[in-house]
Amino acid sequence: MSSNRSLTRRNFLVGASTLLALPILGAVPDICARRQRSCIIIGSGLSGLGAAYHLSRAGWHVTILEARDRVGGRVFSRHMGGENLVCEMGAEWVGNEHERVRALCKSLGIGLQRHQFQNERLLQNGHVSAPGKLETRFTPQGRAAWETFTKKFHSYSLEQQKWMDRFDWWTWLRNIGMPEQDIRLRDLSDSTDFGETIRDLGAFVGANEYISTAASPTDWMDMKMIGGNARLPQELAHRIGREHIHLNTPVHEIKQGRGLVSVRSGEKVWKADAVICTAPTRSLTQIHFDPPLPSAQFNAANQLQYGRIVKTAVLYDERFWKQDDFSLVTDTSSHYIFHATQNQKGKQGILTSYATGDKADVLASQDETRRMKIVAQELAPVDERTPQLARAVTSIPWQRDRWTQGAYAIYKPGQWFTLRPILSRPHGKVLFAGEHLADWQGFMEGAAETGEAAANALLGK
Ligand SMILES: Cc1cc2nc3c(=O)[nH]c(=O)nc-3n(C[C@H](O)[C@H](O)[C@H](O)COP(=O)(O)OP(=O)(O)OC[C@H]3O[C@@H](n4cnc5c(N)ncnc54)[C@H](O)[C@@H]3O)c2cc1C
Repeated sequence: MSSNRSLTRRNFLVGASTLLALPILGAVPDICARRQRSCIIIGSGLSGLGAAYHLSRAGWHVTILEARDRVGGRVFSRHMGGENLVCEMGAEWVGNEHERVRALCKSLGIGLQRHQFQNERLLQNGHVSAPGKLETRFTPQGRAAWETFTKKFHSYSLEQQKWMDRFDWWTWLRNIGMPEQDIRLRDLSDSTDFGETIRDLGAFVGANEYISTAASPTDWMDMKMIGGNARLPQELAHRIGREHIHLNTPVHEIKQGRGLVSVRSGEKVWKADAVICTAPTRSLTQIHFDPPLPSAQFNAANQLQYGRIVKTAVLYDERFWKQDDFSLVTDTSSHYIFHATQNQKGKQGILTSYATGDKADVLASQDETRRMKIVAQELAPVDERTPQLARAVTSIPWQRDRWTQGAYAIYKPGQWFTLRPILSRPHGKVLFAGEHLADWQGFMEGAAETGEAAANALLGK
């Protein structure tokens, strides 16, 4: 692997797991090999469950402490209507390249079904365009600028990647010669992937998402789990053993001493040989560490923000949108709307709005009924009956979620190469995992990958 590829977004984990493994190997040799080893895992999202699954299969005693009243974290399905249609409030898509998640689904007997949306419509200024790929909507000048930059980007050295990352993605696109109208289009589309406007996104992170050799033609929007993505955390929890999972148990303190780590929630204390902490950084900074986290690590956790996303799933009495792969990028608050019940039989159907950034904050401050009215009304240019056909709603404003305060981490200009390596460092016998540390950052795959890497570090693999 050449040095300029060694820290790209998609292959970082090779480096990250090495980073993770080296210090921890120094930290745990005193764990007695003859008795059963134990680990406390903070958080029952896919990273925590993934870590616990690996450790318990290797004979470790695991205890999972979860703040919420359910497992799964940001993987959360809901059912709506008499036809029991399922929609996703958190993670929606499994990409073809998401090998770990696909392998887990296979081994746990969870089927995957197609969930692709490649030809989206565009709703701008009240007009709806015919379906088409984003690239076809750019000006010839914008397309030429993009192609020229794409060729250059593949040969960027690590130093050039770091220099690039000091810019935001919007400014970078302007500097490579994209006309303003094309950048606005990219902003509408790319902000769906990152949860914030591209004015807030590091340019390297943006380029790597869309141009790297690992970039996906479908943007990793390929499949979903039959019956709902929440089946994956539920199956994992079942295999690990529900008796090892404590719900409604927010961790307040992590203390290390005398070869053990003790973890406190309220008055209750658990002790183990090691801890894997998967709390998103906004929550991590609320945990009291003794000895304290190094200030660089605490500050990195404090600086990392999470994208503002509101998912609003509206159940309609009929599928007026006709195409099973209906999707629409809008200049309104609903932002991106897609058919959530693709490949699910029923007369009724669900369209989910995926609002990001400032638009998401507008929706977040409304109650759910008003959210439904806004989203349904904004669809009137597609079919004027939408306000009358809207029957029920369910939604989550992730930026108001107590335990995440956003949907997934957004690495701002200059943060990708600086904050993430610091956040990945073990603190004594406490290892860190979670989507925000992953090569596949922002994906279930990333969560599963970091959980496995943390478990492997403890297993000495
Ligand atoms: C709106 C949205 C859309 C998404 N779309 C996709 C997608 O299409 N495809 C995809 O692959 N991924 C998607 N993701 C991302 C994916 O859901 C995450 O990357 C992944 O689920 C994160 O898993 P995790 O284990 O890192 O974190 P979480 O799932 O957040 O797990 C961490 C757990 O820690 C718990 N916790 C926090 N603090 C404490 C504490 N102090 N004590 C105890 N427990 C604590 C939390 O309650 C939580 O359950 C999406 C996410 C969101 C929100």
